[in-house]
Amino acid sequence: MIIAVDGPTASGKGTIAKALAAHFGLPHLDTGLLYRAVGRQVSLNGGNPDDAEDALAATGFADSLLDDPQLRDEETGGLASRVSVHQAVRQALFERQRAFATQDGGAILDGRDIGTVIAPEAEAKLFITASVEARAQRRFVEMRERGAGVTLLEIQDDLRRRDERDRNRAVAPLIPAENAMVIDTSALGKDEAIAAAIEAVTEAVS
Ligand code: C5P
Repeated sequence: MIIAVDGPTASGKGTIAKALAAHFGLPHLDTGLLYRAVGRQVSLNGGNPDDAEDALAATGFADSLLDDPQLRDEETGGLASRVSVHQAVRQALFERQRAFATQDGGAILDGRDIGTVIAPEAEAKLFITASVEARAQRRFVEMRERGAGVTLLEIQDDLRRRDERDRNRAVAPLIPAENAMVIDTSALGKDEAIAAAIEAVTEAVS
C-alpha cells in the first residue's frame, strides 16, 4: 500500500505522515528533506539556487547531509523552494522517491507532488492544508522554542512567498491530486488531525 501525503509548509503533513507510518507499520520518507539537502548543498557550493545548472550539480549531495540539523531551518526551506522549481532537479530526485514508494510492503511519502507525480497510483492520497495564519502560528511557537528571533509577521510573509512559488511553478505545482482527500487542520489539534487522517486512509483502502 502506498500512502501519499501532500500539502503546503507547516500544514501538519509531516506530523501526520509520521503518525500514519507508525499506525500502519510502513516506512516513511520526508521528500522535502531531499529538496532541502539540494538547497543546502547549493549554498555550500557557493552556487545560485535560481540557476538550473548550479541546482542540478547540488543533487549529488552526500547522504550524510540528510542528518544536518540546519536542513530544518527557515533559510534552507527558502533555498529548497527555489531549487525545486527546476525540472532537472525534480528529475534527478525522481528515481530515489519512486524506488522508495514502490518498495515491497508499501510506503508512505510526504511532499508536494507525491499523489500527482511520484506515485499517482497510491491507494490513499491525502492533501493536508491549513490557513496561513494557523500555519504561521505553529511555526512561530516552534521557532520560539528553538530560540529563533523571528516575528509572526515575518513567518507569515515567508509562508505566503513559498506557497506562491510552490503553487505557481510550471513543473509539479502544489495542487491536490484529483482523488485526494483534503484535510484542513486549521481548527484541529494534533491528535484530532492524526485521527482524521487515519480515518481517511482506512476508508480509502477498505
Ligand atoms: O516540506 P518542506 O517544507 O520540507 O519542503 C521544502 C521545499 O521543498 C518546499 O517549499 C517545496 O518547494 C519543495 N518540495 C517540493 N516537492 C516535494 C517536497 C518539497 O517541491 N515533494
